[in-house]
Amino acid sequence: MKQWFLHEKLGVTLSGLFITAIPIIGLTLFVYFQSANYIEEIVITENQQSALVIADRIKEQIDGDVRLGNLLVIRRSLKTAIQSTDRKEIARHLKDYMEHSVTIEHAFITNTRGNLLANYPNSSSLINRDFSQRDWYKGISQNWQPYVSEFYLRTSTPQRYVFSISIPIRDDDDRVIGILGLQPEENYVKNAVSYIHSPYNQTAYVVDNNGNLIYHPKFTVDRIIDLSGSPAVQRVKKGQTGVEIVSSPDGQRMLTAYHPVEGNGWGVVVERPEKEAYAPLREITFGLFAFASLMLLTAVYFAYKRSELIYSLQKLTEELETRVMERTAEFNDANIQLTLEIDERKQAQEKIERLRIEKELLLTSAGEGIFGLDLDGNHTFVNPVAAEMLGYPIEELLHKHSHTMCHHTRANGSLYPENECPIYKAFKDATVQHVRDEVFWRKDHSSFPVAYTSTPIKEDGKLVGAVVTFRDITERKRAEERLAYAMADLARSNAELEQFAYIASHDLQEPLRMVASFVQLLGKRYKGKLDGDANDFINYAVDGANRMQILINDLLAYSRVGRRGKEFKGVSCEIVLNQALSNLQNLIEQSGAVVTRSQLPGVKGDDIQLTQLFQNLIGNAIKFSRDRAPRIHVAAEQRGDDWVFFVRDNGIGIEPEYFERIFSIFQRLHDREKYPGTGIGLAICKKVVERHGGKIWVESEPGSGSTFYFTIPAQRELKT
Ligand code: ADP
Repeated sequence: MKQWFLHEKLGVTLSGLFITAIPIIGLTLFVYFQSANYIEEIVITENQQSALVIADRIKEQIDGDVRLGNLLVIRRSLKTAIQSTDRKEIARHLKDYMEHSVTIEHAFITNTRGNLLANYPNSSSLINRDFSQRDWYKGISQNWQPYVSEFYLRTSTPQRYVFSISIPIRDDDDRVIGILGLQPEENYVKNAVSYIHSPYNQTAYVVDNNGNLIYHPKFTVDRIIDLSGSPAVQRVKKGQTGVEIVSSPDGQRMLTAYHPVEGNGWGVVVERPEKEAYAPLREITFGLFAFASLMLLTAVYFAYKRSELIYSLQKLTEELETRVMERTAEFNDANIQLTLEIDERKQAQEKIERLRIEKELLLTSAGEGIFGLDLDGNHTFVNPVAAEMLGYPIEELLHKHSHTMCHHTRANGSLYPENECPIYKAFKDATVQHVRDEVFWRKDHSSFPVAYTSTPIKEDGKLVGAVVTFRDITERKRAEERLAYAMADLARSNAELEQFAYIASHDLQEPLRMVASFVQLLGKRYKGKLDGDANDFINYAVDGANRMQILINDLLAYSRVGRRGKEFKGVSCEIVLNQALSNLQNLIEQSGAVVTRSQLPGVKGDDIQLTQLFQNLIGNAIKFSRDRAPRIHVAAEQRGDDWVFFVRDNGIGIEPEYFERIFSIFQRLHDREKYPGTGIGLAICKKVVERHGGKIWVESEPGSGSTFYFTIPAQRELKT
């Protein structure tokens, strides 16, 4: 805005000023030039007029005096007196003349040769003086016409510079008999000049035909002052009229008008200081300048006012624009908001649509039967799988009472009261109902076993119904039945096997003991009587019998785990471990094994079997140690519902491929010579652990030791 003010406002002001200034300046210049011309003309004319009037006046005055002189010279008595040289008479005539003339100071009469006959006032000393050298004589004697002379110093008193008007005197035959000379009084020219009363500061002076000054108002002309050098005087001498600017000796520029006095070669020059002459012009110029300035100032003022008007208009426009822009921005914002809302709504609709499609897809493609129920227990929707399983078209199921249609009777054929129905309980109690084994009824009155979940549906926190998902569990039930059968079968065969193993091992012990003792007897009795081979054979037989005994014992122990197990009771694993370590005391001492332990929990179980379990695992840890003393750590920690026990050693370790196999009966990884054993120890461990409801496994890295883990359920009732 400020910028605009500086630029636009100035611009508007200047252009307003410019527009108004042109006519003002034009008008002013026009008026100025017109006035200048006019004033110049007036001034020049005035000056010329003055010169002309003065010249005319001088001429008139001289003419008047010539006329008066003519009246004198026509006097007969005068002529006679001249012809007879009667000086007295002539002097009387002159006196008479002089008494009637106010302009002539001195009058005289000469003869035609220029000798003075008489004069008035009388100066007798000049009588008979020859004046033929005077200009007045020369002038008149040229053609005997009245003549006005040059300016000269007269002889008669008072002696001063004068001019003479000479008039010829003729006799009756027109022959010249004498000359009348008239010398005007001192102020003669002055009077003529003063006749003009100019209000201006103008100076009028008169020069004679030589350019000598005759009269000047500013000083007395008492000598010859030659002005013939002045251009105006030169022109006027040539009989020209004109006006020009001449610089005066004091450097002042003068408007100089000149005009010749007709008939005698004189000239009148009227001077006026140019400055003064053109003062009106200057005044007008000043006035015009003042006027123009005033006008311009007015123009500036109005231009400024106008620019202010434009400025406020512009400001209003800008404010308007700003408001429009603000409104537009608001509209835009609102628009954007609206668009966003529309977008959001659209997105929400799309989401709803997507959800609908997803729901449809879910319902259609779900492997389970799904139906929705309202609070009255009527179907609100049914998916195709449900309809198919129930043997109805979907439409027949919709808005029908669910319990009446497909849940009315229990599997045993008794009526299923609606108030006991778990499906309806879901929306009555607002609880999710899981039912594993019931029956639904088809359209054809057949039934099929189902597992279902009835989930209450809430909208805005309000219960509106339930959704039921159900599965046909025919297959599962069949599989369960098969499994139960197989389990029973397995248990039976296991029992038989255990029975067999027990019987076999038990019953084998007696003959084996016999074989062993008789072979030993054979060996003792025939020692040294048989050859070397026979001795070796006997030793082999004894060894084989012993090994078989161990095997049978182990097998017996194995079979006993299932058969002869004790009832479970609270067992302290601390005590169990102590017992196991005490049983292994010899082995520990021999091997120099170090057994560390952490606090072990109490569990429910068979203390004898658990002792055997620890004993087997620690025994193996000592047995499968490397050359250095075994270091064994026994500990337990609770994980979820189980206690996890472990026995860690720093022994030879086991290849991962054998992790499973070692728990099977008779499975060994090393030959007997190096690590003695039967391969039943871990099988017994597994059996004991499983009997206690746990698992057993090993983690190991060959060369870095092994850790045997087993779990026992914590604080749980276990079946024997
Ligand atoms: P036996 O000890 O009589 O050989 P087991 O059933 O106790 O039979 O063990 C089976 C096999 O598992 C053993 O022969 C041995 O190869 C391997 N084994 C068991 N315990 C360990 C152990 N702590 N370290 C390394 N190997 C072991």
